[in-house]
Amino acid sequence: MTARIIDGNALSAQVRGQLAERAAALSSRGITPCLAVLLVGEDPASAVYVRNKVAACEKAGVRSLKDVYPPDVDPAVVFARIAELNADPAVHGILVQLPLPKHFDAEAVLEAIAPEKDVDGFHAENVGALMQGNPRFIPCTPYGVMKMLESVAAPLKGAEVVVVGRSNIVGKPMAMLLLAQSCTVTICHSQTRDLAFHTRRADILIAAVGRERMITGDMIKPGATVIDVGMNRFSSGPNAGKLCGDVDFDSAKEVAGAISPVPGGVGPMTITMLLANTLEAAERKASGETK
Ligand code: NDP
Repeated sequence: MTARIIDGNALSAQVRGQLAERAAALSSRGITPCLAVLLVGEDPASAVYVRNKVAACEKAGVRSLKDVYPPDVDPAVVFARIAELNADPAVHGILVQLPLPKHFDAEAVLEAIAPEKDVDGFHAENVGALMQGNPRFIPCTPYGVMKMLESVAAPLKGAEVVVVGRSNIVGKPMAMLLLAQSCTVTICHSQTRDLAFHTRRADILIAAVGRERMITGDMIKPGATVIDVGMNRFSSGPNAGKLCGDVDFDSAKEVAGAISPVPGGVGPMTITMLLANTLEAAERKASGETK
C-alpha cells in the first residue's frame, strides 16, 4: 500500500484563496489587515521563516511590518516596540519570532503582546482560552494540522491519536485541539517508555519532535494518518543538508493510509494559518470586538 500524500502546498493555496477574499472584503471597507513581525538575532532558520511570513502577507493582501534587531539588543527596546505596536490601531497582529537570544525572558516577551493581537496564540490568556475549549487564536502549526486532517476527512471522534512532542507551541496545543474533537489523545515525549508501543496504536500520529526520521514505518499502524511537523536536515547520505521530517517518509508511506511530506506539508500550512489569524484579528477589530 502506498499512502495518500497530504499536500500542504496545494491545501495552502486553496485556503489562501479564501483568505484573499476576506482580505479584499476588509479592504473594500477601508481596512488593511496588518501583521507586525519582530526578529531578534541572526538565526538563519528564523530569518527564513520571517522572510516567508512577510512574503506570504504581501501575496495575501496583508500589510506587514518587519523589525530586525541585533542579537545583543537591550530587551527594553523590544518591549518598548511591542507597547507601541499594541497601541497602534492600524496593527492587528504581532508576532515575535522564536527562539529569542538567551538574555531575553521569552515568556515575558510573549506576555507583553496584547492578547487580542497575539496571532501566534502563545499569550497565557490565549493558552487558557484554548484549554477551556473556547480559543481566541489557535496556534498556527496545530491549526494547520487540523486543516490537513480535515482535508483527508480523517475521522476524529473516538480516534486513537498519538502526539509525539509536548512543547507549548506544537505538542500541547495540538493535543488540546484533538481532545476537543473527542479523540483519545496520548502525548509522548523524551521520557516515554517504548515509544513504538504507543505510535503503533495510533489511528492518527502527529510527530513534533525535531529528530531526523525517528519514526519509521514499523512504528506505524497500517492505514494510519501521519502528520509530520518536524523540520530537520538529513545529517548524512546523498540528501545531506536537505530538509526532512521526524518521520522516515520512504518506509512510512508504505504503511500509512495518508501522510504529509517534509518539505511541502505542515510548513506552508503554518504560514497560511498565521494569515488566517491575522485576518481574524482584523475582522474582530472591524466588528468592534475588542476581546
Ligand atoms: P521542542 O524541542 O520544543 O519539543 C520537542 C519535543 O519532542 C519535546 O516535548 C521532547 O520531549 C520531545 N522529544 C525529544 N526527543 C524525543 C524522543 N526521543 N522521543 C519522544 N519525544 C521526544 O520542539 P518544537 O515542538 O518547537 O518543534 C518540534 C519540531 O517541529 C521541530 O523539528 C521544529 O523545527 C518543527 N516545527 C515545525 C513547524 C512547521 O511549521 N513545520 C513549526 C514549529 C515547529 P521533552 O519535553 O521530554 O524534552
